[in-house]
Amino acid sequence: MNTVRSADWVVLVAYGEIGVKSSGVRREMVETLADNLRALLADRDLAAEVEARWSRLFVHPADSSTAPADRERVTRLAEAVADCVGVVSARPSLACSAELDAVLDALRDFARDAPAGDSFAVRARRVGPDEAHDFSAREIEREGGSLIESVTGASVDLDDPDRTYRVEVREDTAFVSAREFSGPGGLPLGTQGKSVLLLSGGIDSPVAGYELLRRGCEIVPLYLDLGDYGGPDHRARAVETARVLRRYAPDRLDRLWVAPAGDLVADLTDSVGDTRMLSLRRAMLVVAESVAQRLEAHSVTTGESLGQKSSQTGPNLAVTDAAVSLPVHRPLLTRDKNDVTEQARRIGTFDDSTLPVGCERVAPPHPETNATLAAVVAAEPEDLLERARSLAESVEPVDL
Ligand code: ATP
Ligand code: MG
Repeated sequence: MNTVRSADWVVLVAYGEIGVKSSGVRREMVETLADNLRALLADRDLAAEVEARWSRLFVHPADSSTAPADRERVTRLAEAVADCVGVVSARPSLACSAELDAVLDALRDFARDAPAGDSFAVRARRVGPDEAHDFSAREIEREGGSLIESVTGASVDLDDPDRTYRVEVREDTAFVSAREFSGPGGLPLGTQGKSVLLLSGGIDSPVAGYELLRRGCEIVPLYLDLGDYGGPDHRARAVETARVLRRYAPDRLDRLWVAPAGDLVADLTDSVGDTRMLSLRRAMLVVAESVAQRLEAHSVTTGESLGQKSSQTGPNLAVTDAAVSLPVHRPLLTRDKNDVTEQARRIGTFDDSTLPVGCERVAPPHPETNATLAAVVAAEPEDLLERARSLAESVEPVDL
């Protein structure tokens, strides 16, 4: 087993909700998180070893030394680690022996490259029985604070510091850092089964997919090719956003499924009036449900949020859901568009979502906002859901 040596660079990784699970579940989830981290780092060509220990994971850069160049390398590694779902924070840290002098030396090293005049705080945590160390966390904060003041001329500001130095002391090792990258939290991917994601490539559905990944649920992305109503650019947008999502799940998301729905949409547009969008949504859910049953997914997920469009009012969602028996998850149900758009920018799907695409002309001029199931069913072709089910037989994978 890889162990931390004194004066090594290492990324100290904290996880959140896994920590409250029973010990057996926790052990398995931590192993899964470690595997996911390995896959994510390998996918990004970052050479490192991942080690699970205590209530932390450690990511060791390959062939590290304490040279300044390695500080850059470990920082890039920490940034990538913070992209992994299940991770709460990642700190590029210097590991040293759990002695006050060694900790102060490491703090001095970090302080020397801090721009003078900044405010700062030292936050220290010591884990273990009192007798394990002959100094307290408060002493580190006090002595570290005055040392950094004298090295940098910066002043202590505990409320809103420009820079926070963090020290974590565990057994015979202390970890000292001056940066922290926040992760998405959630649960390790692969611990919550899988869901078929209706992915349009617009702003919302990729974010809905990301939210599932964040809670540990694998996604099976499914795009309905709308034929003349969508077009090649529309499809390309779905592929590109799926590729961005794959970066968060490199070993668990390798294809986008595409269903050829052009004829079905054309027929709906010709034959159904104000409730046409609802019939299309019902057909989409049925295709997704059939794919879910084939690929052993437990649910269907969409990027809908309450009231965003006429097809997404409360009564209309009830009508569309009645087409299927698997649960339909809507991670964005209560989210505002601005907030979703901001998240799309953060996770990197926004640019592809806004690629100009051929206009969608499926929506009727006066869409129904308060539909009843009986009226929608009466207006749609009798064999609609049957046709949707058979579309699931002709889905084609696109490699990501
Ligand atoms: P998005 O909601 O993905 O940003 P949008 O706003 O253009 O795109 P909506 O009309 O809001 O699309 O569609 C509601 C939901 O229906 C989408 O979030 C997505 O889950 C699903 N959906 C729409 N079009 C398609 C499609 N062509 N293929 C797969 N799913 C789709
Ligand atoms: Mg939408």
